[in-house]
Amino acid sequence: DDSPNSWEARADAHSFYGFTDLPSIAERGTVVLTHGEGPYVFDVHGRKFLDANSGLWNMVAGFDHKGMAEAAKAQYDRFPGYHAFFGRMSDQTVMLSEKLIDVSPFERGKVFYTNSGSEANDTLVKMLWFLGGAEGKPERRKILTRKNGYHGVTAVSASMTGKPYNDVFGLPLPGFIHLTCPHYWREGRDGESEAEFTARMGSELEEVIAREGADTIAAFVAEPVMGAGGVIPPSEGYFQTVAPILKKHGIPLVADEVITGFGRTGSDWGCQAYDFMPDAIISSKNLTAGYFPMGAVILGPEMSDRLQAAVDEIEEFPHGFTASGHPVGCAVALKAIEVIMDGSDGAAPLIDNVRALTPKFEAEMARLAQHPHIGEARGKGLMGALEAVKDKATKTPFDGSLSVSERIANTCTDHGLICRPLGQAVVLCPAFIMTEPQMDEMFQKLEAALNRVFEDVV
Ligand code: PLP
Repeated sequence: DDSPNSWEARADAHSFYGFTDLPSIAERGTVVLTHGEGPYVFDVHGRKFLDANSGLWNMVAGFDHKGMAEAAKAQYDRFPGYHAFFGRMSDQTVMLSEKLIDVSPFERGKVFYTNSGSEANDTLVKMLWFLGGAEGKPERRKILTRKNGYHGVTAVSASMTGKPYNDVFGLPLPGFIHLTCPHYWREGRDGESEAEFTARMGSELEEVIAREGADTIAAFVAEPVMGAGGVIPPSEGYFQTVAPILKKHGIPLVADEVITGFGRTGSDWGCQAYDFMPDAIISSKNLTAGYFPMGAVILGPEMSDRLQAAVDEIEEFPHGFTASGHPVGCAVALKAIEVIMDGSDGAAPLIDNVRALTPKFEAEMARLAQHPHIGEARGKGLMGALEAVKDKATKTPFDGSLSVSERIANTCTDHGLICRPLGQAVVLCPAFIMTEPQMDEMFQKLEAALNRVFEDVV
């Protein structure tokens, strides 16, 4: 609808979108949504879309989960808001921290709450900087992350993010160092085996530590599977290679589990899917199944002891958000964890459905990978990406001006499927409540769009 009073025109007139790729959005048109049912969303004209990305990876319990909404409503009625400052916090916050430590891979630890994943990464970095200062060693300020890693958009978390679009903001800040993306298919050299590639990632890390000085580095932060970088699982043995190097140099390893936490990969945590033990975990998104904005820094035993000792020393951790540990957010998170991990209201845990659907998801991805213009199908659990290529043998990408992945996503939208273009890949990250017929619908619509767009551009 392009009349001046349409919802779409009103949206465009008065709001900015995040991460808008204007030419492709203009081609597709704005979409204004009113409600959802299961994994589907509906727009103001009643058009129905299967959302293959669960919103932004987070609406894992679908868009109309009664138990989630009721948990929020009950807490709004009981105690609708409070902070977690000055030695005060809600009972829900206490219970959530206990639960988070219980379900985390840590034997013990402590939690700090934020409103988002970006703020959780900023909070982590401020904790690390605070530790340096409190121990009389203000060095150890540098943060190591990877190219293509995504850690958020606030000034610090954007500096951790290893994407070229940071250039337009004059970021990263000094001291944020981006290592090579451990994507063997794209970054591996001619004739290099995957084991050799992983070893090279380890050597690079050693070299960077030697160049910068181990005692200037505060932490290494990594997503177990890169999400917004294009769903990139690490090369075989990657974390088994970098973890001992970091340990040898006393550098904490932090897992940014904003996407991978709470079941996305089929394991409770991404670090468990890849069999490594981090020193801290960053959480958000699935933490509340998207029903409340919330993030958390979960510190394992060593880091929480160090932070507690530093706090005791100056009797304060001068940091916190008005809504840190919001009681409604905490009640919603407690419910989300129950729904995903334990099962709730007579329903099986949603993580069981992730595990049950993964073989079908992988089989469908492998089938589409046979297409002459799909260079790689990759993923873990219920997160996956199909990378479009002009030439499969040489892995040559399409000319960027063709906007192949955007055209595929736009064609999907025309057919009632929302999926996300990232670089030249199309990303799928379905809700944990998806059924097999809905998954069939998702792949049928995607395949039709792939065929149509490749016919046009080749
Ligand atoms: N870390 C990871 C791994 C993410 O995927 C995201 C968001 O997509 C963030 C951090 C930032 O979270 P938020 O958008 O809630 O600030």
